[in-house]
Amino acid sequence: MVIGGIECDATDEYFQFRLRLLQVSLIVATLFSGALVLAHWSGVNDQGHTHFINLQVFFVADLLLAISLWRHQERFAVVAAIFFAVWFLINLSALCFLVNNEFRSIWFFVQITVTYIILGPSAGTSTAIITLLTLIVANRYLPAPFSSNAMVTMLFSFCASSTFLHSYTQRFLAFQSRLTEANARLRDMSCHDPLTGIWNARAFNETSEHVMREAQRYGTPFSVLFIDLDHFKSVNDHYGHEAGDMVLQEVAACLEKNSRESDLLGRIGGEEFLMLLPRTDLAGAVLLAEKLRLSIEALTLSFGKSLIPVTVSIGVARNQPDHKSIADIKRQADQAMYLAKQGGRNRVTAFDHHDVPAAGV
Ligand code: GH3
Ligand code: MG
Ligand code: MG
Repeated sequence: MVIGGIECDATDEYFQFRLRLLQVSLIVATLFSGALVLAHWSGVNDQGHTHFINLQVFFVADLLLAISLWRHQERFAVVAAIFFAVWFLINLSALCFLVNNEFRSIWFFVQITVTYIILGPSAGTSTAIITLLTLIVANRYLPAPFSSNAMVTMLFSFCASSTFLHSYTQRFLAFQSRLTEANARLRDMSCHDPLTGIWNARAFNETSEHVMREAQRYGTPFSVLFIDLDHFKSVNDHYGHEAGDMVLQEVAACLEKNSRESDLLGRIGGEEFLMLLPRTDLAGAVLLAEKLRLSIEALTLSFGKSLIPVTVSIGVARNQPDHKSIADIKRQADQAMYLAKQGGRNRVTAFDHHDVPAAGV
């Protein structure tokens, strides 16, 4: 069955959150590196010649990445990969060339934290391991290496915070995916009739309004079948409510089985169903209605030792240029169904009042 105009995909809030964070990180990185370049250039803060050049490259790269991501959100993964790579390189540049700055390794720590939040636990842990190995190896070749005490403190604090961030982001992602699944289930429940599993009245109406707007715009025909079980009250009275429920389920399954993928089927009331047939004129709709009527009449529904006979009356109507909403066509299909009841039930009637003879009636 077609889902039609019902919006079933929730917007990916988590992606939007990561996207915004990456955009903010790029802007902050651009501003910070720009400020450091200006500070060096004006003589306020000396960055050393090599690191100053690297800072300018980092500034330009961040600016270009920020502009690129602003225009093309779908480039998130590529932009993030390049950003974290150049960030790592500028941190390495600070480590090697900014030797008089005792706190320069802190930038690695900031990068690991941001990587965990934006790219998740795997990327965060990989960055943390690469950073630790780089620090251990690079420290041997630095002109003024960190003391072994400073290295131990640094490595332990990196490990501790990475462990915390790893478990936190992993939990957060698991929570996020459970929430997404729960939302999808809720959305599904809000669209479906719990007894038969087909669309409920609300979902049917929303979707059929959408189908109608499309059909009216392109001038294509579509039809509506109003299907009502005959003497259903007496099924409940004779066999009980449970048997009545079983009949409703079997009838819904039969209607679904005998319709096309593109048709829309909904239970709109107790024992009333609507079927919307896109790109189907009145003659085609009457043919399908007759096929459905015969299939339901042929159902052998047993409850305990009893066989429950079940028939339906079907009213058919098609869209007309003067129809304002789906309610206009439904009303005409309802009127045609009423005529089918008056005509003796177990029959198909089209809104133009030409009764279709029902076999065996
Ligand atoms: P007609 O041929 O004129 O349509 O007669 P009918 O008995 O089918 O119509 P009526 O409107 O008199 O009765 C509909 C019955 O459908 C009454 C109600 O108990 C039953 N019904 C409505 N919803 C449910 C349901 O969810 N389960 C069951 N078992 N019965 C239901
Ligand atoms: Mg009814
Ligand atoms: Mg009925």
